Amino acid sequence: MSLRRLHTRLLLAICIPLILVSTTLLPVLHVHMESRLDSLHTEADALLKAGQEALTRDINESLNYALAIAEMPALRRYLAAQDNSSISAQPYSLSDLSQLSTFLNTLISHNPRYTKLVLIDNHGSEVLRAPKSIQTGPRVNANHHAYTDYFKGASSLQPRDLYISPPGRNLHFELMGRDVIPVVNVSTPVFDAAGERRGVVLLSLNWDYLTSALRQAMLLDQDANAILIDAQGRWLLDEGFPPLNTTSFGSDFAALSPLYWQAMQQRNTGHAKVDGQLLRFQTEDIRTQRYRSLAGTVFSENAYYPWKLGVTLPLPTWRSLIEEETTVLWFLLLTYGVAVAFGIFWALSSQRQRQLRRAAQRHAHEVSDLYENAPCGYHSLDTTGRVIKMNRTELAWLGYTDEEVIGHITYRELITPETRDQFDKAFANVKQNQPSSAECSLLTRNGEQRHVMIQASAFCRNGQFVHSRATVFDLTERKELEEKLRAQAMTDPLTGVFNRRYLQAQATTEISRARRQNLPIAFIAIDIDHFKHINDTYGHDAGDDVLKNFTKIVTKLLRQEDLLCRVGGEEFAILLPNTSLSQAEQVAERIRRTTAVTPINVTAEHAEQALWLTASLGVTTILDNEKALKPALKRADIGLYQAKENGRNQVVVNAA
Ligand code: GH3
Ligand code: MG
Ligand code: MG
Repeated sequence: MSLRRLHTRLLLAICIPLILVSTTLLPVLHVHMESRLDSLHTEADALLKAGQEALTRDINESLNYALAIAEMPALRRYLAAQDNSSISAQPYSLSDLSQLSTFLNTLISHNPRYTKLVLIDNHGSEVLRAPKSIQTGPRVNANHHAYTDYFKGASSLQPRDLYISPPGRNLHFELMGRDVIPVVNVSTPVFDAAGERRGVVLLSLNWDYLTSALRQAMLLDQDANAILIDAQGRWLLDEGFPPLNTTSFGSDFAALSPLYWQAMQQRNTGHAKVDGQLLRFQTEDIRTQRYRSLAGTVFSENAYYPWKLGVTLPLPTWRSLIEEETTVLWFLLLTYGVAVAFGIFWALSSQRQRQLRRAAQRHAHEVSDLYENAPCGYHSLDTTGRVIKMNRTELAWLGYTDEEVIGHITYRELITPETRDQFDKAFANVKQNQPSSAECSLLTRNGEQRHVMIQASAFCRNGQFVHSRATVFDLTERKELEEKLRAQAMTDPLTGVFNRRYLQAQATTEISRARRQNLPIAFIAIDIDHFKHINDTYGHDAGDDVLKNFTKIVTKLLRQEDLLCRVGGEEFAILLPNTSLSQAEQVAERIRRTTAVTPINVTAEHAEQALWLTASLGVTTILDNEKALKPALKRADIGLYQAKENGRNQVVVNAA
């Protein structure tokens, strides 16, 4: 039972701190988590903004670049010169062409944002290309631009309008050094000074370069991932999307990651939590003014715009939070450890305390049992002598209940008036810390007396008397025993009459009383005749029976105050107060006669037999001048001896 309780407490000691620490620290961690989320949002906003700015800047510059080239007078003139049908065309010298070609070559080859610049006449034929070394990709016939989307797109445009081939569709690839790279074609019509359409300028944008600039701007945080998709959900970045690990330029992002796609499709701008990532996105349309500060209108295929630009950042998890915040982790573990240690200490110490408390209770119970049921009485009295405590033993002696005594009775009231003085005298100085004892008698409820020995001492605190406490020993039994022993010492055990010692002790008292009262006092000595013969004939036991029966016969003939004693084997003596010599003689004679005529039944050899006794008696009186019995005893013995001499069974008076 106790072990089970310990187990429960230990379990509590582990669980309660866990709950307490958790309930205390979880809100803190929650706030921490919230602030992490806030900062994550801020970071995502900043990264998105950086990406947007990079994209805007690069596209804007590219578009303006295309427009600026298209408006170059040398280029206009060159294109016009290529058109033989035109009347207004001015001849173009070779040195001018060389200059223009060198200029354009320098322009393109020094700007990695572009792969090539092509001048196309109104028939779709390429008239100039920079840089010269660039090879066209497999899908483009360098000399036949007439059927391309960029040529057709730009041919019908007004000055300062632009056509952009949408990335992700009709994609062109070009070989740049050793790499095949995606390009986006930007085209714009070229008009001469007279406002006549002369051809088209094609500027191919290095999409890898553009998007890597975008990525560089956005991926300042190494955990961040950039997203750029067109309106169809096609992936527009040169590199894949690490969370999916599969997406590459032009692949179907919408199909590969429907969760991201759904989140981004629903709104123009916003954020969402997808797959443990915080997604922040917004809609970008490169045809809008923001992307073409100098251009008129930008044309493209509508189905591919607007784009969605997004950034993802991994959402913080509790685990990552704790792993990053090792201080928090240590604090958590330390707090929990300390709390559990305290809990276990509490469980063990409370268990120990419980054991100690139980032992103390048991001990207190034993002490109380000893106090209450001790073979002696215990009580405590206050300063006024009122009982404030009394054990069951003493209450039982007195016949009271504790409700009747405690607080109601002064102990002195329980002392008999005869012994009250002794009590007062003995315990007068107990309050002064002087222990004392006294023999007194207690008056019980039913009026009996109980002789007791009281030993009392003071209980003091800081030298001040608080109460007295006493041990009470019952002397009644001892008194009775003493009485019994005393009686036994004075009595003949066989016959029950007094013995010689008592006769001698009592005789002095009786003689002096007789003297005081001036009354006569007589003495008779008796000896059974031929007693030896009875013993010899019937046995010693029969002799004993005879002695007992003889005592009974004699006792019946005496008064209450007469003192019959057995003074020897078959010798008796009688002290007769207030009896004259003649009265004593009469008593003796009556004894002799009665003895002689009274048969005595004895058991001899397993049969009852009756036998007759005789006795010889000497009678005397105690003379006025005699203070002791001795002389009278002698005289009675002389009389007795005379009676024996005279033949026994007779009374002889020997007065002096
Ligand atoms: P006499 O007539 O001269 O007195 O003769 P007696 O036999 O009575 O006297 P004696 O003194 O010769 O004998 C006394 C006897 O009493 C001797 C002893 O054995 C016997 N006697 C003494 N005390 C006791 C006793 O307590 N019980 C019994 N049964 N016999 C006792
Ligand atoms: Mg004798
Ligand atoms: Mg005799």
